[in-house]
Amino acid sequence: MSLVLTLSETVSIWDKTLKKLSSSMDAATMQAFFAESYIHSVNGNEIFVVVPTELAVRVIESKYTKLVEDIIYELTQNSFIISYITGDKAKTITQSVNEGEKQFFSDSKIDPRYTLENFVVGPSNREAYQAAVIASREPGKMYNPVLIYGDSGLGKTHLLHAIGNAILKENSNLKVLYVKAHDFLDEYVNYVKSDRDGIGLVAWFKNSVDVLLVDDVQFLASKTKTEEMFFSIYNYLHSSGKQVVITSDRHPSTLNGLDDRLKTRFVSGLPVMVGKPEKTVCESILMKLIDEKGMSINNFDPEVINYFATKFGSNVRELEGAFGKLVFYFQNFTNSKHVDLATAIESVRGLAAGKEDSDSLTEDKIISCVSDYYSLTPNQIIGSSRVAKIALARHISMYLIRTMLDTPFTKMGVKFGGKDHSTVMTAVTKIEEAIKTDKELEKVIQDLKKRING
Ligand code: ADP
Ligand code: MG
Repeated sequence: MSLVLTLSETVSIWDKTLKKLSSSMDAATMQAFFAESYIHSVNGNEIFVVVPTELAVRVIESKYTKLVEDIIYELTQNSFIISYITGDKAKTITQSVNEGEKQFFSDSKIDPRYTLENFVVGPSNREAYQAAVIASREPGKMYNPVLIYGDSGLGKTHLLHAIGNAILKENSNLKVLYVKAHDFLDEYVNYVKSDRDGIGLVAWFKNSVDVLLVDDVQFLASKTKTEEMFFSIYNYLHSSGKQVVITSDRHPSTLNGLDDRLKTRFVSGLPVMVGKPEKTVCESILMKLIDEKGMSINNFDPEVINYFATKFGSNVRELEGAFGKLVFYFQNFTNSKHVDLATAIESVRGLAAGKEDSDSLTEDKIISCVSDYYSLTPNQIIGSSRVAKIALARHISMYLIRTMLDTPFTKMGVKFGGKDHSTVMTAVTKIEEAIKTDKELEKVIQDLKKRING
């Protein structure tokens, strides 16, 4: 039975809580963060406490949440969730408390197709696989957060769902939430637009999530408000021992635009990389796919497996796509039961040709790589904003196009929204000069060149 408190009971419990708190922290801290706190309202098992400043909200949420909740548990023998708010937010909260609980992320689902059992393990992904096993056996106990990072198409999303599925199989009472960082952004923006106060979303997480799986966290970079919110949620979950697993397409230290505090948090648990799969891994994945289609490996020439593993093996998503084409071709255009190399090559001809096309280097490809890297849009890069980060990304793009494609300055000016050729030239020279002394910039450029070359 959960205890229902009246406002005056809550106020008296808060007084006792403060007394106990003051014996477990130094006087200055107590004075700075708790002295002027008071109860705003109580809604079911959620208690809203007003504290003097935004900073106090942040500090308390990240450092003292557990301590306070433990004291209240001691006093009431019941679990309460404490949400800290500032005085000005207190006005809006009254309204949202009355509106009742809202369901966030209602479209988020864990995909049952992705499991630990059907993930093929090899040297390139063994650590990531082991981290996934640990996170799912004892969520929140060993490493928190677990961060899986690496290029696209190498199994990060697969592992995230697999963790969710494994946890639910063991303990269906746990509330596991899978969210794409992108959806997190949308959800947050809608939430703010709906003109309510942020506190409700944090409170919802406190109530509704035991394990948080966040996919493609790179999308949070440069979204300051959302990052702030995510930071509070993360701190709460982490300090309450709830497992958080994150994926990113690169190591957070190279995620430009991501709050430094988040960068440090993300790598503070267990960061593991997924690399390009070895040929044997690709072959096993192909065997698995053949099996899933109800076909027999005996009907495939060994050269076919070899060809696919070599040609498409740098990205499992592409490997799967190519195999899908082969099956389609084989089932619709041949009468044989046997798949030989010639048929296999024929079936993916378009794909292989298309692959070369998309691989060839163009100005657009460079701009798109740079914009990706800085979490900007290509339009921002070719535009004329003088915001430092955007201007830098633009200059770097110009430099890379010039050095990698040798495009004439005038032509580049046109590409970049009708800029003068001297503007482009100045930008290129500026970067050329800067990398002579700026080691970090030099590294960024090298990193980008690697990405551009695929
Ligand atoms: P990422 O999130 O890293 O871009 P995904 O997890 O979406 O990649 O993987 C792309 C596809 O490849 C998915 O269908 C996934 O099931 C499959 N895949 C990737 N790695 C493996 C693996 N080691 N074993 C089995 N399937 C894999
Ligand atoms: Mg993914």
